[in-house]
Amino acid sequence: MKYRHFNGKDISQLGFGAMRLPTLENGEINKEESFRLFKYAFDEGVNYYDTAYVYHGGKSEVVLGEWVKNEGIRDKVYIADKLPTLQLNDDFDANAIFAEQLERLDTDYIDFYLMHALSLDKWNKLKELGIIKFMDEIRAKGKVKYIGFSFHDDYDAFVKIIDDYDWQFCQIQLNFMDIEIQAGIKGLEYAASKGIPVTIMEPLKGGKITQIKDPYTTKLKNAYKLQDVPTATICLNFLFDRPEVLTVLSGMNVYDHVVENIKAASNCQPGAQSEAEKRFLTDLRDYINGKATIPCTACRYCVDGCPNSINIPRIFDMYNDAVMYDTFERNKAGYDRMPSTGKDCAECGQCEDACPQHLTIMDYLKKVDEYFSANSPVAD
Ligand code: SF4
Ligand code: SF4
Repeated sequence: MKYRHFNGKDISQLGFGAMRLPTLENGEINKEESFRLFKYAFDEGVNYYDTAYVYHGGKSEVVLGEWVKNEGIRDKVYIADKLPTLQLNDDFDANAIFAEQLERLDTDYIDFYLMHALSLDKWNKLKELGIIKFMDEIRAKGKVKYIGFSFHDDYDAFVKIIDDYDWQFCQIQLNFMDIEIQAGIKGLEYAASKGIPVTIMEPLKGGKITQIKDPYTTKLKNAYKLQDVPTATICLNFLFDRPEVLTVLSGMNVYDHVVENIKAASNCQPGAQSEAEKRFLTDLRDYINGKATIPCTACRYCVDGCPNSINIPRIFDMYNDAVMYDTFERNKAGYDRMPSTGKDCAECGQCEDACPQHLTIMDYLKKVDEYFSANSPVAD
């Protein structure tokens, strides 16, 4: 395992994301298997474990806390946990939630504590609710070692949030596809310029990147003599190559993936990704981006005016995802579960009037509906 240095600490450059732990048929976390994966990772040098109040309905914190306690390794691992920010109303009580989290984790302190999934709007709302006092207090009392935030908004919002508090770290979504999305590479570099280390989430886009079955990927790998290197390894190396990264969180729930990712994290380091791997990723990115997708920016201006409550951006996102990542079956299942789809469009045209991208939404909805009505993807 290779480590990154932070405040006199060695943090494994691969972190264990506990948001998608192995589950049983009834949907509950498979504790035995989760413990096996945690333990293998720990024995191989992983010392950063990331959970959140909302993961697995709160059970992720409990299972992680139980494993750490059983092993007697509280002082040998760094636990990251997140304050939920989904319901920011006047009843929001950060102190009560934090106390509950310590109880679930069965610990006295949390190493890395994040405001979860901040957008600029959420950050402003949190400040109105007195979050700065709360953060200052839990830090001063030693209940939390480092305060940070995870982020889902655009680059400008990222800069505003970073500049607005004395953060000690932050967490962004980054992978070789999303270099200009959300905070992006620019955000990574901006945080580093302020001395703020960055933890990375979605390094494989929730596993989508590695599920591409496209023969083009195989052809590309052959061209760059990378046949024996797993795609996941190349994607992780893209992040290990960056010195600004503190740790890369992978939500691992399959033993072989843990083994594979640890192998990658034991080999690559800043500046060490091969030219062949870099060119493979550049070509793959161009290829995926070149597929015929719907240029919806998910601004949601079209949503409120729809008389039939059709979630247009969600539908377009499913289509784009299916086309870009060969995930037809999964997205078709999601589309079929939607309460209203393109079939319910009354062609009133309100959405098209509202769309700043001037998309021909009604035509696109028909196209998507035809696409998902088939039993397999039909070429455009
Ligand atoms: S045209 Fe269709 S999708 Fe658009 S607002 Fe009207 S009913 Fe909704
Ligand atoms: S208004 Fe246009 S760009 Fe915005 S979400 Fe709707 S379809 Fe997408």
